[in-house]
Amino acid sequence: MPGFELWGAEERKEVNDVLETGILMRYGFDGPRKGIWKSKELEQEICKKFGSKYAQLTSSGTSALTTVMAALGIGAGDEIIMPCFTFVASFESVLGVGATPVLVDVDDTLTLDPQAVKKAITPKTKCIMPVHMCGSMADLDALQAICKEHNLILLEDACQSIGASYKGKALGTIGAAGTFSFDFVKTMTCGEGGVIMTDNEDVFTKCDGYTDHGHDHLGVDRGADLHPFIGYNYRISELHAAVGLAQIRKVDKVLSIQKKNHQYLKNVLSQIPEVSFRRIPDPAGDSCTFLSWFLPTEEITRAVVNELKAQGILAGNFYWFDNNWHYIRKWDHLKNSITLNALHPELKAEVIKQANKNFSASDAIMSRCISTAIGLLWTDEQLKEKAEKMAGVIKKVLKEKAVAA
Ligand SMILES: *Cc1c(COP(=O)(O)O)cnc(C)c1O
Repeated sequence: MPGFELWGAEERKEVNDVLETGILMRYGFDGPRKGIWKSKELEQEICKKFGSKYAQLTSSGTSALTTVMAALGIGAGDEIIMPCFTFVASFESVLGVGATPVLVDVDDTLTLDPQAVKKAITPKTKCIMPVHMCGSMADLDALQAICKEHNLILLEDACQSIGASYKGKALGTIGAAGTFSFDFVKTMTCGEGGVIMTDNEDVFTKCDGYTDHGHDHLGVDRGADLHPFIGYNYRISELHAAVGLAQIRKVDKVLSIQKKNHQYLKNVLSQIPEVSFRRIPDPAGDSCTFLSWFLPTEEITRAVVNELKAQGILAGNFYWFDNNWHYIRKWDHLKNSITLNALHPELKAEVIKQANKNFSASDAIMSRCISTAIGLLWTDEQLKEKAEKMAGVIKKVLKEKAVAA
């Protein structure tokens, strides 16, 4: 699943190029850097690989989202519709630009339910932000149609779905803009980092300035840059970009291993009639970082989780329903709107209202879902053993429950 599993000489070589010159910053120092521009090079490779006209690297996926929201003009008073199953970074970014996160239900794609999105639209809605969770996609045709009808911005949080696609286009390049995260556990990593992809030159230019204190990058040197607007420092460093350069060249390898292992595991679990799988709007585009599967009830799912644990094979199997990071149920800090400094009182009230809505439709899905992270280093024997053990656990629990019933 994460690119760090394939760490090696290629990453060290790229980092060493930077260490040779000692120029760790992505801008300036044209002479001493001796032609080494890792961040620029990585941006070009991202454009080429994923089919985006522009790419702006950032210090994290969170800062990529924050930056692009600002560049798209999303701010105070605007509502962003987003799913209640995601990583906390998604709503952090919305709050970071002072906008309102409108949380809505997910369906069996584990991403935004288009019907729930429609119901959540108000005159304040400005943007729909699907989160392509666990390596696979939201129903982008349906969401794009809604955006078109209501004149809304489609922003893709593709942080977890590097290398996945929808109808032949890379996730993250389909909406007005999209983001990847390159944090340590993502499909390709920079250690820390992120990127904004867009085909819109104006959005890109704004992202470029925003991530570097608003500098317009038009001066003869940095000191001569002007500031058309206020920005922040969300820059990536050359060391991080160097790691990313080695990693992006491994993405195809990562994807092919994932697809092979995913297919094997899915075949084994498919033989159990009670197991069903996440609906994937375009199966060919699944990056296969996870295999997400469902059991018939929450009770059975919990029993399977407990049995996986008892047999020492829970690692790599995620029961998001009980997870503190990814699902609304455990986001008490959001439900109570606990911030270190004051939010605008109206926003605070709205956050509390949004986070305490009824998400029973999502509960009914997430309480039955387990996602298995697909390893890159599994041997064929390990994969076979893992699949057989998991199938054994599921069958054992189903049998016990049938006897008890
Ligand atoms: C990882 C992730 C992010 C951004 O994470 P960073 O750790 O800040 O790079 C955003 N959204 C989702 C869904 C993620 O999984």
